[in-house]
Amino acid sequence: MASRRCPCGKRIPLHQSVCAACADKYGTDRAAWPEWLRFCVRDTQRELDCDRRHDELTVFDDDPVDDRYPSELPNNVRAAWSYIARNMLYGEPGDG
Ligand SMILES: [Zn+2]
Repeated sequence: MASRRCPCGKRIPLHQSVCAACADKYGTDRAAWPEWLRFCVRDTQRELDCDRRHDELTVFDDDPVDDRYPSELPNNVRAAWSYIARNMLYGEPGDG
């Protein structure tokens, strides 16, 4: 469903910054990436953040669900786990 684009143009899941091929080529350590790659990823992230902030303006106030992606939260590891728990363990479609 929701996806973003790797700087190389390939479609990738939202929680990834680059595709597998690029991660393989440039590594997963952002500090070691070429400047243009960091820029592209930052730019893509900024667009996504902007879109999602806009979305939040239309969310009903009585819906307490925090549907931000782990990469948008301060504590990525904890957020990732709670995101997984919410969406994979308790997010059965058609249940309830
Ligand atoms: Zn790529």
